[in-house]
Amino acid sequence: MKFAAFAILVLCVFLNPLSAQTLKADLIVINAKIRTMDAAKPLAEAVAIKQNKIVAIGKSAEIKNLAGAETKIIDAQGKLLIPGFNDSHVHFFAVGNAFFRVELQNVSLPLEIAAKLKGNLRFVPKGQWILGGNWNQEKWKDKTLPTKELLDAVAPDNPVFLYHSNPQIVLVNSLALKLAKIDKNTKEIADGEIVRDASGEPTGILKGKAVELVKAIAPNLSRIDKSAVLEAASNYAASLGITTIQDVHSDDNFAVLQEMERRGVLKNRVYECVSLYDLKKIELAGLRRVSDKKLVRSGCLKGFSEGDREESAELYGLIANADKANAQVLMHAIGAEANDLVLSLFERVAKTNGSRNRRFRIEHAHNFRDHDLQRFAETQTIASMQPFLFFGADGNDAERFRAVADANVSLAFGSDASMKSFSPFDGIYAAIYRGKAGKPKFTVEEAVRAYTFGSAYAEFQENVKGTLAVGKLADFVILSDDIFVINPNAIVNTKVLTTVMDGKIVYQKK
Ligand SMILES: [Zn+2]
Repeated sequence: MKFAAFAILVLCVFLNPLSAQTLKADLIVINAKIRTMDAAKPLAEAVAIKQNKIVAIGKSAEIKNLAGAETKIIDAQGKLLIPGFNDSHVHFFAVGNAFFRVELQNVSLPLEIAAKLKGNLRFVPKGQWILGGNWNQEKWKDKTLPTKELLDAVAPDNPVFLYHSNPQIVLVNSLALKLAKIDKNTKEIADGEIVRDASGEPTGILKGKAVELVKAIAPNLSRIDKSAVLEAASNYAASLGITTIQDVHSDDNFAVLQEMERRGVLKNRVYECVSLYDLKKIELAGLRRVSDKKLVRSGCLKGFSEGDREESAELYGLIANADKANAQVLMHAIGAEANDLVLSLFERVAKTNGSRNRRFRIEHAHNFRDHDLQRFAETQTIASMQPFLFFGADGNDAERFRAVADANVSLAFGSDASMKSFSPFDGIYAAIYRGKAGKPKFTVEEAVRAYTFGSAYAEFQENVKGTLAVGKLADFVILSDDIFVINPNAIVNTKVLTTVMDGKIVYQKK
């Protein structure tokens, strides 16, 4: 009897292991070269995802066993897989806005217009207007005026409105004509011309007063669709392998981002910061940090100092109040004076408000005095730096990263896009650049760590993301090249093959 019961138990476990049954993964990546950035288990080949979390990580042969009939399997074919990038300093709206405009002043071939448009439209939602211009066919070899077909080939689903360098002339596509109800039968208007072909069909060129017919329905600055702009920014971020952005711009896009999350068009997590100078928002920010299960979080307030001592009393009050409200304070500081002033304010606030896990941040933390590095460590202030921002300029930060890391100060990396390139590969390249003197700067490992774990720590999220381990969020990227071993000069050419955020594939290279 005892034996029979034992045998049945063994048989059950063998035939129908309960753990494997409940653990059928939704998504599995096999044959990858995984760098987890987790010291406990730094390397692996395969990872299994259930819903939005990592449920197993290890060898391909083991992880394959977690596949069921419904499981999606990605064969990474030996490519590098790392945690998704977390950009700790982005002006997200500005990143998106750039795609809604094309600058054509230096275009020397009509096909360049099409190429530029096509590049922008990779990220812009259908139906949204593309504006811009400054083209002039007099600079081209073929000096005939372009036609709507040039635009239609690449922009069938977005209305396009492009000024000539003479604003009395505009080129529009077929969709823009249709929306403006301009066709073969439209009558000519006084002081204007709808340029037509031999059959009377509008060519897409409008002159004089006829420009107004389309201009009247095109959006202007006061009618910008915020969610479309942020959607473009989010699409772009996903294509760069960025699974979290920390929006340090002062405009409050929290509600718009939440609505995008509900519609399923938000492809990155967002830590949405608002201005330190708005006291009401301080209360809001404090309350909002509770939404950790959502893609959009808040609780951070951004201020600004140029080192002006006369402002210090006011700034102290703002920072102290924000800190009391349990909000995280981020202060922009560039230069010795500004960093010194902000550090002294942080020191005073910490002393007055008492100890807590506050994680003050200095944004840029550029060109602080060497001896102030110790004060970052003492106040546990995070240096939120952007490797590519000052790259090539005087006071290039690359050497500083080494000093910050060696002083055991928390370092988060970001881009300062749209001011500078949004690409984390440009950032990594700048961080490891040794310059002519060949001084020791940063390793790729350290740069990636600052861009993943470091940035997650800077937003209180290191326990849920920033490394790849069982139980953590499924935010990762598969890259075209192994940036840890290739020639450092080639890092900037790295392409993202796949981006997974919250367990979903949000980008795949075509
Ligand atoms: Zn900035």
